[in-house]
Amino acid sequence: MLITNVKLGGRLSNIYVNSEGIIECINCNRRDGQVINAEGGALTLPFVNSHVHLSQALTLGYNRKNETGKLIDGLALLRDDVLPRVTIDDVKRRLEKIQLIMFMNGTLYVRDHEPILNGNARRLITILHETSLIKVQVVACPSPSLSFSDNENEMERTLEAGADVVGAMPHGEDREGGLKSISKVFDIAQKFNKPVDGHIDEIDDPESDFSFYMVSEAKRRSWGKMTTLSHMVSSQYQGAMFRNLLLRMKETKVSVVINPETNLHLQGRYTEREVPRGLAPLQLLLSQGINVSLGSDNVSDVIFPLGDFNMLNVLERCKTSEWYCPLDTITTNGFRTLNIDPPSVNEGMKAEFVILKEGSKTPLLVVNGKHYALNKMTSYIGTVD
Ligand SMILES: [Zn+2]
Repeated sequence: MLITNVKLGGRLSNIYVNSEGIIECINCNRRDGQVINAEGGALTLPFVNSHVHLSQALTLGYNRKNETGKLIDGLALLRDDVLPRVTIDDVKRRLEKIQLIMFMNGTLYVRDHEPILNGNARRLITILHETSLIKVQVVACPSPSLSFSDNENEMERTLEAGADVVGAMPHGEDREGGLKSISKVFDIAQKFNKPVDGHIDEIDDPESDFSFYMVSEAKRRSWGKMTTLSHMVSSQYQGAMFRNLLLRMKETKVSVVINPETNLHLQGRYTEREVPRGLAPLQLLLSQGINVSLGSDNVSDVIFPLGDFNMLNVLERCKTSEWYCPLDTITTNGFRTLNIDPPSVNEGMKAEFVILKEGSKTPLLVVNGKHYALNKMTSYIGTVD
């Protein structure tokens, strides 16, 4: 496949991808197969969705209505109504659809938080790892808390079964329990040599400040680059203590994942006045050199009824709250969060890239080795002769 007129490093180039999905040559004009004119579209890294909940996505309707819209009620309905109906065949069917949507929209890498309760995550790891169009990292997520039911033992069983990342949810415990759970999560992460990515302070309680302890623990154990704070939306992040936290985060090199679509919907439901924004302060974090990437979080489920897995839409939503939200938050920074090297566009390398068309919310072309998605929509308005 020859891709012509693609903007690469500031100039128009041609890229030839052979039948093995390898970039055979750049600017060599081989024409022994399909030719796709990129019409000046810019080449970028594939997108990373740094935080998602795959096995519960597209399950809206499996549950009774979430009357309050609050996260805590959504989580209870998820546990009681949704998870018991999530079978392996059901997940396979939805996953097929989800990976097609993700692929068409340029996302090739995903970090997926799966609830470990009652062995749910353990049962799904193999099929999540077998997806052909997207690469999925599975986080063993101890929702609603590590001390709930048999979650602490189940966490280790889930890692033994092949989970890639240790999850956390300290704000689901009381204060003492939350601190203990952070320490336990790092013990398990070090035992299995796995990264930590926790739901941290995803709550409107201004007293919830587990982010401080999470960062301290990461620093104490030299686990910063292997640590991600997801959500981080408690309304207490302000003033001198927060500045102190920012400095520690920078030093420790932890990552932060912001989920603008869901948290703008979920947060601020407990206060009558001065409704908090519901997002971690992206610009402050970026200005301190802290790695920040974006996730779609829940899509069409009991927690969040909207969403579409299109990271360009997530980026757009982030920009409506933060005037500056760079493309890096769904590309380069996402790879750093996931602790993987981004693919490079060089001769001899596997073809993995996205070509963007100016003004469009869907990439023109997405290539993942031998697979590609071409999104060409043509419309025409005319008059009948
Ligand atoms: Zn989440």
